[in-house]
Amino acid sequence: MGKKVTRIGVLTSGGDSPGMNAAIRAVVRTGIYHGLEVFGIMRGYQGLIEDDIYKMESRSVANIIQRGGTILKTARCKEFLDADGRKKGYENLKKRDINGLVIIGGDGSFRGAVQFSQEFDIPCIGIAGTIDKDICGTDFTIGFDTAVNTAVEAIDKIRDTMDAHDRIFIIEVMGRDAGYIALHSGIATGAENILIPERKTDIHDIITSLLEKERRKKLVNLIVVAEGEDSGGANKVQEILKEKLPNAEIRVCILGHIQRGGSPSCLDRLIASRMGFHAVESLIEGRHNVFVGILNNKMHYIPLESAVKNKGTISEEWMKIVKILAS
Ligand code: ADP
Repeated sequence: MGKKVTRIGVLTSGGDSPGMNAAIRAVVRTGIYHGLEVFGIMRGYQGLIEDDIYKMESRSVANIIQRGGTILKTARCKEFLDADGRKKGYENLKKRDINGLVIIGGDGSFRGAVQFSQEFDIPCIGIAGTIDKDICGTDFTIGFDTAVNTAVEAIDKIRDTMDAHDRIFIIEVMGRDAGYIALHSGIATGAENILIPERKTDIHDIITSLLEKERRKKLVNLIVVAEGEDSGGANKVQEILKEKLPNAEIRVCILGHIQRGGSPSCLDRLIASRMGFHAVESLIEGRHNVFVGILNNKMHYIPLESAVKNKGTISEEWMKIVKILAS
């Protein structure tokens, strides 16, 4: 248990995700409820280093729960990778007597927090905000539900035209290292194939089944691809398939950044509110260097370090469901 926390800072860092605003709101209002002073740090670690820090009131977070993005803005900050940069950040907290930090971000931001808390006596609490859901130890990360629903809505629309024209569609969704958006949106839209970074892509298997469909003259097929899938993403998959199926109409659609934006879903607003609330409560209780996760609907406090080291794994059950339901 550390020193009593009286003044806390909150920042959003790395990739933005819908629901970050709901988390900021929860941190600010829970902090104020407990008599803490709360400071917003702009643009993640960049604002920490550049002293772009301001005091927040309850009204500072009015009317933001439904907004995507983050009112504190976010950034990727190279300077924070250096000890000198982190020291500048520490000094800016020190001069305001800020003695607790809430970091809303992904595993990169948590890595920064681990480094920072090893060097300086500032307890850090993480809140997992990432559309990729690639943080182990929590069933939810803020933004995943919204992103996956955006993908599902888009894929449903594409499916209509795919079906009308008997086309093969390859749809690329976000996920450089994690296939959860592809897996969830693919299953939910009835995709025949889902290609994810966690599994080796068996392109020959896809070709065999497409050739079989071609023989039956019914070449409608939906392939959902995570951007980090190992054959090189949707365009590369299209290239390989075109070679083997020269008569097929094969189209690509890359969903891109629409998956990051938009109003957060009810679920994302709820988990952001719960996590924000518990992040502050846990700082007050003296916890440090953990992130707030939810497992089996219960709050869990997981060492920031383990979020850094562990990547979630995709169970065989999911892969079986994909295969059987698409056949
Ligand atoms: P995300 O949090 O979404 O995974 P990044 O991986 O870009 O996003 O990380 C966000 C920021 O966290 C980086 O720009 C950098 O400032 C900081 N960071 C990441 N890794 C480290 C590290 N090993 N040491 C210090 N800071 C780090």
